[in-house]
Amino acid sequence: MSVLPPLDVTRIRKDFPILERGMRGKRLAFLDSAASAQKPRPVIDTLSHVYSHEYANIHRGVYELSERATRRYEEAREKVAALLGAASPREIVFTRNATESINLVASSWGRQNVGEGDEILVTHMEHHANIVPWQLLCEERGAKLRVVPIDDDGALCMDELEKRIGPRTRLVSVVHVSNALGTINPVQDIVRIAHERGVPVLLDGAQSVPRMAVDVAALDCEFYVFSGHKLYGPSGIGVLYGKAELLEAMPPYQGGGEMIRTVSFEGSTWNDVPNKFEAGTPAIAEAIGLGAAVDYVRELGLERIARHEAELLDYGTERLLELPGLRLIGTAREKIGVLGFVVDGVHPHDLATILDQHGVAVRAGHHCAQPVMQRFGVPATTRASLGVYNDREDLDQLVEGVREAIEVFR
Ligand code: PMP
Repeated sequence: MSVLPPLDVTRIRKDFPILERGMRGKRLAFLDSAASAQKPRPVIDTLSHVYSHEYANIHRGVYELSERATRRYEEAREKVAALLGAASPREIVFTRNATESINLVASSWGRQNVGEGDEILVTHMEHHANIVPWQLLCEERGAKLRVVPIDDDGALCMDELEKRIGPRTRLVSVVHVSNALGTINPVQDIVRIAHERGVPVLLDGAQSVPRMAVDVAALDCEFYVFSGHKLYGPSGIGVLYGKAELLEAMPPYQGGGEMIRTVSFEGSTWNDVPNKFEAGTPAIAEAIGLGAAVDYVRELGLERIARHEAELLDYGTERLLELPGLRLIGTAREKIGVLGFVVDGVHPHDLATILDQHGVAVRAGHHCAQPVMQRFGVPATTRASLGVYNDREDLDQLVEGVREAIEVFR
């Protein structure tokens, strides 16, 4: 078996211009990539190049610039399809973000397939983006949202998942990797269990796509969603993967230009997928920029990225646990590089403010996962999350900052 060389983080850091700037007179330790990742030079340059040399509206013009922009936009779709292992680029819909992708499915597929007394199954570790769209749908249709519990480590209770899939379950919608806990869910098993009962599955890949190789064909899930901005790409662009036969059967999400084939006052007909779901002028440069981000992570290698994070996660976990009164929230065996914690006597927001003085950027709050905070009986956590540019020095800076905060509040 060939051993892949580790990521060359010193070189990678040079790809991210923002890391050259200091923060409050210190080195910037950016540990908030789970919220949004920084952008490498190839992505920044692509955006600049598109606007300087290749920009025009797509799909409509017959002139060279429009054709070129259309080609680049569709190439980006092909790159995303290849990244996810989709059977065809037709299965890739560009949206604004993971949130909009889930709303699209809830609104279009949901209204068509969910009725009174039906159930949608989610888990206790979902991001609000995978809770609220289903609550809105359930309210409208008279359906019920059911929840799979998690254990004290933040791992999913798989036997409970099995028990909660019943004859009225219409969809299982689960996060692949939790943003608040770092837990990697056994999605292959989840899809198998749901399919054995004839239930389709949506996977929220907002945190997994930037961190591990994902293959939707092997997973066999019906829908998979993610956001470009967490994959080192631009904000304002997201992805919905859907199996072609499902997308084809679904009604439009929004109406307008581009999603139609014909329009008259008597009625309109719809474009083919995926264009049926891309009403209006899309985020053209952002999609092309996402294509550059896909190239970037594939060149680094998603397996190497996963290993890099796992190694840093072990180091960061060990170092943080040296600190008195610190408790990690999220200790599942299968975990990605998210370190959520609380410290006795120090409010997470005060902690994050002190860390900022140390040049350390972390997130404090409920991380759009309030049910997770309720499950662990805390109002908020401080969360350090890793990306390809992080190294042990970032984690040392974090630990020193937390140590000082503990001393200040003692
Ligand atoms: N799901 C998960 C697991 C997330 O971490 C996030 C972002 N924090 C989202 C969904 C929503 O992503 P976005 O805000 O880009 O739509």
